[in-house]
Amino acid sequence: MRQYDFIIIGTGAGGLSAALHAAKVGRVCVLTKRSAAESNSSWAQGGIACVKADDDSVEQHVADTLVAGAGLCKEDAVRSIVSEGPARIEELLALGVDFDHKEAADGHLEFDLTREGGHTRRRVLHHRDATGKEITDKLLAAVRANPGIDVLEGHYAIDLITTAKLGMVSEDRVLGVYVLEENSGKVITFRSDRILLATGGCGRVYLYTTNPSIATGDGVAMAWRAGAAVANMEFIQFHPTCLYHPQKRSFLITEAMRGEGARLIGSDGKEFMQRYDPRGSLAPRDIVARAIDSEIKRTGGPCVYLDISHKPADFIVSHFPTIHRTCMEVGIDITKDPIPVVPAAHYQCGGVLTNANGATNIRGLCAVGEVGCTGLHGANRLASNSLLECLVVARRAVELLEHKMPVSRTIAQTYEIPDWRTGNAVDVDELVVIYHNWDEIRRLMGDYVSIVRTTKRLQRAAARLRNLKREVQEFYWNFKVTREVLELRNLVETASLIVDCAIRRHESRGLHYTLDYPEPDNNRVPIDTVIRRY
Ligand SMILES: Cc1cc2nc3c(=O)[nH]c(=O)nc-3n(C[C@H](O)[C@H](O)[C@H](O)COP(=O)(O)OP(=O)(O)OC[C@H]3O[C@@H](n4cnc5c(N)ncnc54)[C@H](O)[C@@H]3O)c2cc1C
Repeated sequence: MRQYDFIIIGTGAGGLSAALHAAKVGRVCVLTKRSAAESNSSWAQGGIACVKADDDSVEQHVADTLVAGAGLCKEDAVRSIVSEGPARIEELLALGVDFDHKEAADGHLEFDLTREGGHTRRRVLHHRDATGKEITDKLLAAVRANPGIDVLEGHYAIDLITTAKLGMVSEDRVLGVYVLEENSGKVITFRSDRILLATGGCGRVYLYTTNPSIATGDGVAMAWRAGAAVANMEFIQFHPTCLYHPQKRSFLITEAMRGEGARLIGSDGKEFMQRYDPRGSLAPRDIVARAIDSEIKRTGGPCVYLDISHKPADFIVSHFPTIHRTCMEVGIDITKDPIPVVPAAHYQCGGVLTNANGATNIRGLCAVGEVGCTGLHGANRLASNSLLECLVVARRAVELLEHKMPVSRTIAQTYEIPDWRTGNAVDVDELVVIYHNWDEIRRLMGDYVSIVRTTKRLQRAAARLRNLKREVQEFYWNFKVTREVLELRNLVETASLIVDCAIRRHESRGLHYTLDYPEPDNNRVPIDTVIRRY
């Protein structure tokens, strides 16, 4: 049994920045299921949105976010998160994060801000096309250098321990978490009054995704099982432009490329976006993704193309070095050739329901970053707002926890917490079953629950997932826990939450588009889809 003042699950931008704030008030443990460098955050390319330019304002950033969110953003949350951006950026600069600069007309250096789809101003700070890696490298270095923070890699958080789960009827509060230590295969109990979920999203629920393999929806599934409210899971953002190539299935082509003039073309070489939206290639992601989906279906081709080859080669290579290098590895020279692209699952706009400080309905449990649903994104996230949310909500969640449950008044150790029981579980003997189920979930989500939905397909998906859930549950109880079993369990849970939320929404709004209800229901105030297990 181990005890900490703060337990933070995840080493993306949310978890790492929370750790640095928490270490100012107590002892911190950061758990992460693989290496600390593996996260969605480290894959972020385009940048982080923040009001910096003279012609920009907080109100303009708020307005753009609200337009993208299609009526479901919580305006207060949006305004407060956007307003706090500049202060969090200063903290990153103090850690040595190196955002790109350019020479202004009067000769002084200023941030080289880019503009992405849905933004009406240039406001995206970036480090070439590898912003996430630059940010997480610097955050991780600071975390590792801090003696008050233990970083435990290969530690898989299985389930939260709460008073309700222990059968106590008093106020529901978090007490700890069961964790699989992968090296030893042992399950250890970690106790804390203050737990921050920063486990990221769930892109791996889909066959085509831009997300790395860690993104299996663990945090949402864990919180759901613990009784936390979950909201708006139907809003899965599909990135319009993922590289279409058999050897590189999860490689994203940043939206910033369209911001710099790249054009979407069909196999006939003609631009098609103007037929779908007057903003052309700079329309918001959901519109571009649906347009590409429709073009692919219309022409029967496997993909469309993104073409930036009309720009000077040195501009392309200096602005997009990672994309240039990666495409070259598979024989595509982006300075000469168009890039084959398809839409792919990219970002979970819903998640564990929180307020703008990351607080959930379970005392002591906060959700930070992609796993949470603060109301910033509404029905559709504005590009580059997510890294911003990670940084802002991480600090607030730590502050809130310390305010509401000061470290000096820790009580988790006073509760009797049972050790993890393995019972008669044996070693997994048939990994093939796990891989088969995994594949089935991802394919059925791709076929029935992707960009364009229907009630019938959603119901079919729900029925299949119910069966799969039973099978996976049996597996979970009969076999010793391994990462594969745990990820499969979370994957099927998260897929079901997406479908359950989608079935409840009888309208098309933002990222949720269904042929049965093709318009938004404007007769009532837009509402979140909120579901709770108990
Ligand atoms: C390719 C790509 C490009 C993107 N580009 C941008 C961009 O330009 N700008 C922008 O704002 N956003 C971008 N995003 C989105 C953004 O990167 C993410 O939303 C954000 O980084 C999420 O950060 P996070 O801290 O919430 O989670 P993550 O960074 O995903 O970190 C999650 C962490 O939790 C750990 N974890 C998960 N489950 C468990 C468990 N059960 N036990 C222990 N550890 C666990 C993981 O190993 C990982 O360390 C991009 C995303 C992708 C995939």
